Amino acid sequence: MTKTEIVAVFESIANIMQIRGDEPRRYQTYRRIAGILDSLQEGIHVLYEQNQLIEVPGIGKSTVEKVGELIETGRCEYYEELRASIPAGVMDLTSVAGVGPSTAGKLYRELNVDSLEALQQALDNHELRQLKGMGKKTEENISAGLEALLRHRQHKLMGDVLPLAWICSAILAKLEGVGEISVAGGLRRRTETVRNAQIVAACSEDACAAKLRDALAKAMFMVSVNDDWTDSGGSARLDDDVELQIKCVAPEDFGSALIHFTGSEDHVAELNQRSVELGLNSDFGRGKSEEEIYAALGLPFIVPELREGRGEIQAALADQLPHLVETTDIRGDLHVHSTWSDGLDTIESIAQAAQKMGYEYIAICDHSTSSKIANGLSVERLLSKLDELKEIDEKTPGIKILMGGEVDILNDGSLDYPDEILGKLDVVIASVHSGFGMDETDMTERIISAIENRFVHIIAHPTGRLLDRRDPYKVSVGALIDAAAENNTALEINAYPDRLDLKDTHARQAKERGVMLAINTDAHTALDFRLITYGVYTARRGWVEKKDVLNALPLDKLMEVISNQ
Ligand SMILES: [Zn+2]
Ligand SMILES: [Zn+2]
Repeated sequence: MTKTEIVAVFESIANIMQIRGDEPRRYQTYRRIAGILDSLQEGIHVLYEQNQLIEVPGIGKSTVEKVGELIETGRCEYYEELRASIPAGVMDLTSVAGVGPSTAGKLYRELNVDSLEALQQALDNHELRQLKGMGKKTEENISAGLEALLRHRQHKLMGDVLPLAWICSAILAKLEGVGEISVAGGLRRRTETVRNAQIVAACSEDACAAKLRDALAKAMFMVSVNDDWTDSGGSARLDDDVELQIKCVAPEDFGSALIHFTGSEDHVAELNQRSVELGLNSDFGRGKSEEEIYAALGLPFIVPELREGRGEIQAALADQLPHLVETTDIRGDLHVHSTWSDGLDTIESIAQAAQKMGYEYIAICDHSTSSKIANGLSVERLLSKLDELKEIDEKTPGIKILMGGEVDILNDGSLDYPDEILGKLDVVIASVHSGFGMDETDMTERIISAIENRFVHIIAHPTGRLLDRRDPYKVSVGALIDAAAENNTALEINAYPDRLDLKDTHARQAKERGVMLAINTDAHTALDFRLITYGVYTARRGWVEKKDVLNALPLDKLMEVISNQ
């Protein structure tokens, strides 16, 4: 057991006591001990083994015993008994924002709320406001917290789950008896949010499932392995409440199983239909590889991002599948923040990181005057930045550092800098950061004014959504796309995993109207550069090709296109 896990046990003991309504003195003691253990400078294992833990001020004999039990057996009898004294669902209540152990205790003891479902019911019946010390406001806060938690459980960001799934695949791929292995489901199709992570593994023997389960149980980010395992797989819970499902299939069925588990339902239904039309099996049979299955249906391989039942099969039959953009096609990032506004890295270190990405150019776009909380640049500071940037650009060979700006579109549609200042910038991106509450007509007109501004090259995060946190503002995306097409203004696919804005279907609409797309990370630290791949996935789901992407152009071409905008 790691120190963090041991500390968590002591914290849970305190929480359970508080929930039960035990004497404050008791749970406060456990909470204090958790704090002391957490702040130990030396390793807790070493201290325990050398009998020195007892010498730490505030640590008594019973604590040392519990720590020892945890280190030696991974369990603590006292904690297990305590945990069994309240229903398991009561502890879940504390994951709701606004519900601490004290509130959870009141809910459990006074209203008999012992699960998230029961909490929902009590909220619906307005029972909470009848409790002492709780009013309408608390009830509303808890209600919002519960809603957010339930939504979060249903919809995880693809960008959060995919790396976990990749690590799991890598761990499992090494096991004996496991052949091909692949992430499946919405995650493989790179949908913006996913319910769970699925992995399909080709297993040469029945015993493989148990091996997979055991290997997972040891993984660092594992919370618990569920008890639903059979020879054909099972599930587990990872950090951040991500559910992982493992499907074990025979190697000769791997291709067909992967198509089924990758989906989408619509895509698979269309494949089935095609199979029937060709006089074959109604479920397109079995096969070792996906290619084999598609070939039997007279189709080329269709990449997972296109498998949405949005015309990909007709396109495949007509030999008109798009040649989707790839991450390696991206030649530069046109939306990066530096320490001049709210970024964490200097222009110099951004340029170095961009070179490591293999980029040809980079546009440093800091916020404009009105973005006060983001340390937006006044005209004066913008001009100083321009001087510094030119200097750095001259002494940094191998990459072109472009002077950019992320300029606020003000409520009346005007931009945050006067034209003569905008004219000094190589790349102007315009975006909405305030006044989100406008009605659709006003918001659409506001953004179209920016699109029509001859100095604006790109509209950043055009709908302003934050997945899971903020709905897009009310705007007619179709009208923005039309205006962008008429004015040769590019629209951004913001690659931040909680933005992915434009989303896939809008990106496709834009591409079909001939609008150029800029896939940018909106990096606030050079580490964010790696997020570009999520923007590229979204573009691919939108059928976007290399030729549709502004920053897939070489520098001279980019400058040519931009100067003609
Ligand atoms: Zn922005
Ligand atoms: Zn930005």
